[in-house]
Amino acid sequence: MEDKKYKIITFGCQSNLSDSERISGVMESIGFEKTDDYKSSDVLIFNTCSVKQAAEDRVFGQARNLKEIKEKNKNLKIILTGCMMHHNQKYLETKAPFVDIFLDIRKLAELPKKLGYEAPFSPQEYLSLEAKRESNFRAFMPISYGCNNFCAYCIVPFSRGREYSRPYKEIVNEVKDLVKKGYKEIWLLGQNVNSYGIENYSEKTVWAGKTRKGEKPKIKKGCLTFEELLKKIDAIKGDFWIRFTSPHPKDFTDELIDTIKKSKNITKYIHLPVQAGDDEVLKKMNRFYTVKHYEKLVEKIRKKIPDISISTDAIVGFSGETKKQFENTKKLFRKAGFDMAFISKYSPRPQTASQLAFKDDISKEEKEKRFRDLTNTLAKTALANNKKLKNKIVRALVDEESQGKFFGRTEGMKPIEVESKEKIEIGRFYDVKITNINAWSLKGKIISQN
Ligand code: SF4
Repeated sequence: MEDKKYKIITFGCQSNLSDSERISGVMESIGFEKTDDYKSSDVLIFNTCSVKQAAEDRVFGQARNLKEIKEKNKNLKIILTGCMMHHNQKYLETKAPFVDIFLDIRKLAELPKKLGYEAPFSPQEYLSLEAKRESNFRAFMPISYGCNNFCAYCIVPFSRGREYSRPYKEIVNEVKDLVKKGYKEIWLLGQNVNSYGIENYSEKTVWAGKTRKGEKPKIKKGCLTFEELLKKIDAIKGDFWIRFTSPHPKDFTDELIDTIKKSKNITKYIHLPVQAGDDEVLKKMNRFYTVKHYEKLVEKIRKKIPDISISTDAIVGFSGETKKQFENTKKLFRKAGFDMAFISKYSPRPQTASQLAFKDDISKEEKEKRFRDLTNTLAKTALANNKKLKNKIVRALVDEESQGKFFGRTEGMKPIEVESKEKIEIGRFYDVKITNINAWSLKGKIISQN
């Protein structure tokens, strides 16, 4: 086969990074080779994100540049896939006239045919297609896809559709295979990862792992509960970390806390998106829990797993958010004592309930102010937590070298710079003694390799 090249430009979250690895798997199965230079590529793939308007604008903003490239390279095929596919095709064709193929990621198995090739695999569920992984020590692995929750601000139920859970045997076998290949960190991904496996899941039918009648929910054929799945993966022999994201606070069970506590491989780190610290705002956001529920949950987690590190997601300037309601979010941040947070300024997304029913009435300046204010609140709890780590020994996975310095993540997901007189290798675990801290990162000396 002639020397054909492809390039993928990925926007957005870990799910998209993982999807891009599956796209690579498909492209390489039909003989394409990856390139970083889009001018020399024969196929250019935009794997898009819709969470914010800015992410979409970055794709639309390529129009002029790509027109010029296409004039020079007449055979170039441009593919658009990912979350922006929730728009109707006419809209996309007008805004992104440079695209040749619009591809619903769930139909990834059809990509070879769309490019005029015969697929060397049979049609199958796209999550089961083999990924060509970027890293040889960190793997992103979707266990479910889509979401049934319809949080008022969120585009995911529209862009990724309803929740689908992969058969558990397929997941366990993939993890076994990764561990055998030496992978050290495996991320289990799902838009609502802890509703994995539940049949007819919706915010109205299941709450904290029980049905409205207080019974165990029905589990889909070939699946398990999320906790059972974690236990099976934890039992795999090997030295590796399991991480998962994102769990929904309303689906977080006591059994899940116990599973993390007792496990040997699940990291003592939980990302627990709160979004807002005010009951009225949470209700408007359709989050189906209260501040009290969330705070109690954090309290329970910290009591059972004292060395846990907790991060969150929050939106500032949600439609109608008063100053008092924002102050309540700050209060919750202080009480929960977060280690990290991804704070975003509210941006209404098309089709979502909040865009249709409410106004985006908080000014840009006010959103910016609240963003800075909440970041400062977070800095205080993050710093206080990190102070407790000074002179302690933590386990870290080194993942990067930059300008002669080595960086990684601790078990609690904190960024760390490590030093050693010995040679440091990327993709290995080290025990590190913490020497310096600030709110956002740590520094330490390697004391042993393991
Ligand atoms: S749980 Fe809510 S925020 Fe998360 S993906 Fe589903 S709809 Fe979006």
